[in-house]
Amino acid sequence: MVENKNNNHKIPKDHPRYQSLKYRHQIIEGMKCLVVTEAGLIAHGRGECFDYILGEKTSETAYNATRAAIAALLLAENPIISVNGNVTALIPKKLAELSNLLKIPLEINLFYGKKGRIEAITEMLESSGALDILGKEQSKMVEINELSSNRRKVDPKGIQKSDIVMVPLEDGDRTEALKKLGKTIITVDLNPISRTSLNADITIVDNIIRTIPLMIEIYKELKNFDKKDLEDILSSFNNKENIGKTLDLIIDYIKKEKIKLLNEL
Ligand code: ATP
Repeated sequence: MVENKNNNHKIPKDHPRYQSLKYRHQIIEGMKCLVVTEAGLIAHGRGECFDYILGEKTSETAYNATRAAIAALLLAENPIISVNGNVTALIPKKLAELSNLLKIPLEINLFYGKKGRIEAITEMLESSGALDILGKEQSKMVEINELSSNRRKVDPKGIQKSDIVMVPLEDGDRTEALKKLGKTIITVDLNPISRTSLNADITIVDNIIRTIPLMIEIYKELKNFDKKDLEDILSSFNNKENIGKTLDLIIDYIKKEKIKLLNEL
C-alpha cells in the first residue's frame, strides 16, 4: 500500500496502475520537500504519456542503448552523471548504488535554482547512500558560455572536465550546449523525439525507474570485459537507427491497440 498523503486514501497494490501511481506520489512528495519543482510535475506527466504508448516496459531497443551506455561509461576517462530533482525523487537509492558501484560522481544541476533545493537534493542523495556528490557549492561553480539558463553553472571537478555526461530527463538546450563543448552525451528520455533524444549520442528511451536498475545489472555483466569487447559493443550501436526502431515500436503498439478496439465492436 502507498499512502496518498494528499487526500488520505491508500493505493492498493492490486490497483492496475499501482506502479504509475506510486511514482506519481513520490514526485509529489518530492515537491513538498523542495526536491522537485512544479514544472517537474509536468515533465513527469509528459514522460508517463510516452511510457503508456511504449507499453510501460523496457524494449529491446532500450536494452541495447543501455548496454551501449554502460560500455561507454566503462571506457570513459572522466564520466559524470548529472542529476535533477525528478531523477532524485524517483529512484534515489538505485541512483546512489549505480554511482558508488561505477565510481562515477553525481552532479546536481538544476534549471530552477530555488533557495534550499540543492541542499534538499543533496540530503536525499546522501541519505540514500551516495558517496560522491558534486555541484553542491555554488561559489565553486564555473559557467559554460553556451547556456544562458541556471544550468550553465557546472562543477569544475565534474561536468566541466568530463568526457561523457549522462543527462537523464534533460532539456534540449543543455544537451546541445554540452555537445558543442565536445562532450559525449548519454540520455534517458521517454520521448524519443525530444531535442535531447535526437541530439544525444546514446538515447535510452525508457523510464528512469527501470533504466537505473538495468544499468546496475548490465554493469555486473560487463565490468570484466576487456577494452576491445566494450569498443565492439559501442561500435555496433547506431543511435539514430535505434531511435527509428523505437518509433516503429510505438507505431506497432498503437496499431495493436486499434485492432483490439475494433475487434470489440
Ligand atoms: P526537449 O527540450 O529535449 O525537446 P522537453 O522540453 O520535453 O524536451 P523537459 O520537459 O525539460 O524537456 O524534459 C523532460 C523529459 O524527460 C521529457 O522528454 C519527458 O518525456 C522525459 N521524462 C519525464 N519523466 C521521465 C521518466 N520517469 N523517465 C524517462 N524520461 C522521463
